[in-house]
Amino acid sequence: MNLLETDVMIDVETLGVTANAVVLSIGAVAFRTSTKEILSEFEVIIDVESALEFGDVDASTLKWWMKQERVARDLVMSGETETEDAVYLFKDWYLSNTPSRVWGLGPSFDITLMERLFHFCDKEILWRPWQIRDVRTVIDIVSPLMSRPSKFEGTEHSAIDDARHQAIFTMDMLTLICERMK
Ligand SMILES: [Mg+2]
Repeated sequence: MNLLETDVMIDVETLGVTANAVVLSIGAVAFRTSTKEILSEFEVIIDVESALEFGDVDASTLKWWMKQERVARDLVMSGETETEDAVYLFKDWYLSNTPSRVWGLGPSFDITLMERLFHFCDKEILWRPWQIRDVRTVIDIVSPLMSRPSKFEGTEHSAIDDARHQAIFTMDMLTLICERMK
């Protein structure tokens, strides 16, 4: 993996846990591990009415949201952007960063939901299948070697704060792997 290249980390907040879940917000950061830099950030919160047109709601996820911190709940429900506009804004931001790879926490959920939104909005998928990476696999490999994960800054379950945290943690893990391989 060329760590001089740009990566993008995506986190979405949803009302479900399936591949057809309603997407309420999209957070993303562009980062470069070689310099341990966050290069650019993106966040859009989608209007709930518009979001509900594009997916399913799980009761279990609604119950889960009710147990989260109020600041996270208020944020995720505060959106005023139509889904199509959110996808268009994301596309613009993503392409301006010309990333080599795109990451989600797991191998499918966030990335799959973004691909479904592109499909609904008649947009091409912005990445090729071989550009997709996932954080959980790296955590499985590297966490026994790490003393502790980086501290969370911001609000958990805010898409942009989650994406930034995952990107920083991923840079830490990739750097550690590189150091061990020397
Ligand atoms: Mg999240």
